[in-house]
Amino acid sequence: LAGRELRHVPTIVEVGDIKIGGDEVVVIAGPCAIENEEIFIETALKVKEAGAKILRGGAFKPRTSPYAFQGLEEDGLKIMAAGREATGMKIVTEVVDTRDVELVASYVDIIQIGARNMQNFRLLHEVGMTKKPVLLKRGLSATIEEWLMASEYIMAAGNPNIILCERGIRTYETATRNTIDLSAIPVVKESSHLPIIVDPSHATGTWKYVPALSKGAVATGADGLIIEVHSDPAAALCDGPQSLRPSKFAQLMKELEPVARAV
Ligand code: PEP
Ligand code: MN
Repeated sequence: LAGRELRHVPTIVEVGDIKIGGDEVVVIAGPCAIENEEIFIETALKVKEAGAKILRGGAFKPRTSPYAFQGLEEDGLKIMAAGREATGMKIVTEVVDTRDVELVASYVDIIQIGARNMQNFRLLHEVGMTKKPVLLKRGLSATIEEWLMASEYIMAAGNPNIILCERGIRTYETATRNTIDLSAIPVVKESSHLPIIVDPSHATGTWKYVPALSKGAVATGADGLIIEVHSDPAAALCDGPQSLRPSKFAQLMKELEPVARAV
């Protein structure tokens, strides 16, 4: 179902009046995790002003250490909804457990499946049973074919509204958190009709590298970007080192315009 053989025209995933996979590059931005309402709304207003269309933020965080901040759970979802209320933006958050799919779907506009759950087939099936758009991240060490097969699980359950997200893969290189695979963009476009966006924040792990790779992703044909932004990265409870300050994010949004026009 994800292949080009059955469907030749690109899929455009509609989130309200936002179209992902069309002519425009859609930018999703916000903090890694939702920490409190004040910081979240403040950041939300700033990324909106800079031109982001969709707000991100984690309420259920899949952390490497069980002792790290795990997210505010339903309280985080409530804060997200307040962010949507305050800005008029759409919202996306990750779900990590089949038991929470209904709850998360009741709050957000897009459900995110994180890299660590790309092959959690029961979870894929469960989000496939909803009609909500799904942001499907590429697994830490997943091939493009495995990733497309994961999207197949969601589609086979009845939900065709999938946005693929390249977020860097594990390689031998340690200079960046992951290695961004920009080749995935033309390869996916060749074999699938699904839209593909890029997450330069998790791909690089370093805010300084985010602008260059964002522009590279757009130049390579990405349908959008998902970028971590935090008003005070040093104080962030999660992924501060890869988060852009709002002012740097606004500057990047300006620099992206001519790149997007040129593709
Ligand atoms: C995230 O987007 O916050 C996240 C955890 O990303 P990934 O699943 O790509 O590591
Ligand atoms: Mn993160």
